[in-house]
Amino acid sequence: MLDVLHRHVVQPLVAFKRRSRHLADLRFLERTQYDSPGEVRARQLAMLRVALEHAYDTVPYYRAAWDAAGVRPEDVATLDDLARLPVLTKADIRGHNDALVSTAFDRATLRVKTTSGSTGVPLKIYLDERGAQWKTAATLRADEWSGWRRGERVAKVWGNPEYKHHGLRGRVVNAVVDRAIYLDTIQLNDDRIREFVAALRRHRPGLIFGHAHSLYLVACRLKAMKVDDLRPHGVISTAMPLHSWQRTVIEHVFGTPATNRYGCEEVSLIACECERHAGLHVAAESVLTEVEPDGRLLVTDLSNFAMPLIRYRIGDVVTTTAAPCPCGRGLPLLATVEGRDADYVLTPAGNLISGISLTENFATQIPGTAQLQIVQETRTRLLLRLVKDDQFTEASRRKIAALVLELFGPTMTVETEFVDAIAQEASGKYRFCVSHVATDHLRGLSA
Ligand SMILES: [Zn+2]
Repeated sequence: MLDVLHRHVVQPLVAFKRRSRHLADLRFLERTQYDSPGEVRARQLAMLRVALEHAYDTVPYYRAAWDAAGVRPEDVATLDDLARLPVLTKADIRGHNDALVSTAFDRATLRVKTTSGSTGVPLKIYLDERGAQWKTAATLRADEWSGWRRGERVAKVWGNPEYKHHGLRGRVVNAVVDRAIYLDTIQLNDDRIREFVAALRRHRPGLIFGHAHSLYLVACRLKAMKVDDLRPHGVISTAMPLHSWQRTVIEHVFGTPATNRYGCEEVSLIACECERHAGLHVAAESVLTEVEPDGRLLVTDLSNFAMPLIRYRIGDVVTTTAAPCPCGRGLPLLATVEGRDADYVLTPAGNLISGISLTENFATQIPGTAQLQIVQETRTRLLLRLVKDDQFTEASRRKIAALVLELFGPTMTVETEFVDAIAQEASGKYRFCVSHVATDHLRGLSA
């Protein structure tokens, strides 16, 4: 009853007050998702042409880069013509951050996202309000593919709950509007998991959402604790590959299919499985995907006009499939994604820390970090492999020491090794948090 009220009364009121059109956008996206692949592509081309004109007219970086390459937006008459434009790399974003922001916006009105991206390279991304609404709608549509219904509560197995950064207001907004239940994966132990189970039993969320390795870890502990009464309508795994051995345990413990999702902070949702789980449908109204001959994915953001990312090489390797999904949606499919992967890390006190959340914290908080990999060599010894830029100073070293002390306590030692680059594995995967300790520990826990 509360969920229905939330869906039909609270959410429209909040959207009205925030002047957000995302619920109208959602209705449009739901209505058109079964359009034919040809109609989907035609819509993408129309959006692309608007985005390219806008980028050329108002983003200094693209005007210079495309002039140098001798191409103009009007040269892109088909989706294939997009290949005539140059690729945008992470180094380009780091090196030309200001020149990538559109002059059509007052910067003070933009959302700013700081992320370690999918390869441990910290980036600063600006997003306009309208683009954010559109992306929210695309994400909500994909959330419902998992079996969850809008209005139902969501539980998040996640590092650094967002609302905690906004003080009392954040807590109130979370209590009334977002109603999310969190398990903070920055310091995970059995007591925290038991509290989480109690909250799940109390609030009966319709969806459990988290990083693949965290969902797996929690599922293993629940299995060992013989907790088998949690029955959400859906489970969504995101931000890293969901391996089949993880999926099996998660689905068994929660009694519902797991939905694999792929996205990143830079452009939000990229692709997500539907209820048929036959590949990941691209959020084609929000991003346009291309695959380079070696499998690397290029993403063009069709909805962020504040900082257009055009042919952005995101760092992940994918395969696509032309076979239609049995669900009948016309949205294109990715078959596989080889993205970032990370281990859990074990603290000297015996808590577990999500490697993805850990790297995100370090990479975005240590000034002058161009790329980062964290290796736990023993229970009390960390190695930071770090690519630095000219912003790296003594203050950066102090920040490293402070972060290690805060998260691991005084017995953890840390050595920083400066390297030129952090290599990608042959599969195209970046493992940016490696623990030689936690893996054995986890094996013991799930036995
Ligand atoms: Zn489908």
